[in-house]
Amino acid sequence: MSDQFDRASELEQLHRDDALANQQSHNHQIEQPYEHDGVRYCLSCHCSIGTDRLVANLQAVRCVPCQQQHE
Ligand SMILES: [Zn+2]
Repeated sequence: MSDQFDRASELEQLHRDDALANQQSHNHQIEQPYEHDGVRYCLSCHCSIGTDRLVANLQAVRCVPCQQQHE
C-alpha cells in the first residue's frame, strides 16, 4: 500500500510549509512568537530570548538589539 506513505509525506510537506511561513512572518504586521520547548527565540537572529525580557514584555518576539533595529 503506497497510499499511506503518500499521506505521510504530504503531512510532512504541510509541516515544512508551516515552518517556512513562520520564518517569513517578520515581513507581516502580525508577528507570531517562535517558541520551542518553552524557550522563545528571536525572529531576527534566532537566539533565545531571556526570561527577564519576557517578564518585561510578554509580547516580545525579538531580543533587545534586534527589536531596537526593527523599530
Ligand atoms: Zn535577535
